[in-house]
Amino acid sequence: MRITKNREILEKKCEGIYYTEGIIIANKLINAVIFGKHKSCIGLAHNQIGGNKNVFIAKINNKWRCFINASIINHSKDYIIHKESCMSFPKKSNKVKRYNSITIEYQVKARNDVTGNMFETETFEGFNACIIQHEIDHLKGIHIFNKK
Ligand SMILES: [Zn+2]
Repeated sequence: MRITKNREILEKKCEGIYYTEGIIIANKLINAVIFGKHKSCIGLAHNQIGGNKNVFIAKINNKWRCFINASIINHSKDYIIHKESCMSFPKKSNKVKRYNSITIEYQVKARNDVTGNMFETETFEGFNACIIQHEIDHLKGIHIFNKK
């Protein structure tokens, strides 16, 4: 699975997906990072491998995690200017504005059941918040070179 540099694909908005299909995509993303030997990679969104679904993976506190149907539901007022690079723009970087803290909602199971809600909320701060915002931007067709 190649990581695309095609801006037309990267700038397309991703859509929601069924949870079980999202898990399959998350595995494809993990494989793209591991078998592609992308050691410096800390996040990858579905459109970066040519897809169009709301799925991304991110390395949070040195551990790979997957996020399905994620969206930002709250954020801090303060922001940081963060210098970022991206797997889709090798050897380049850009400074972008990121909220210092964000709360996201993402799907953790196929449906609501006796053990709880299918969506979970979680707050991320600092560098972790930057990684998540970078990936959620990707899902909206936004990357470090077209972000306003
Ligand atoms: Zn990126």
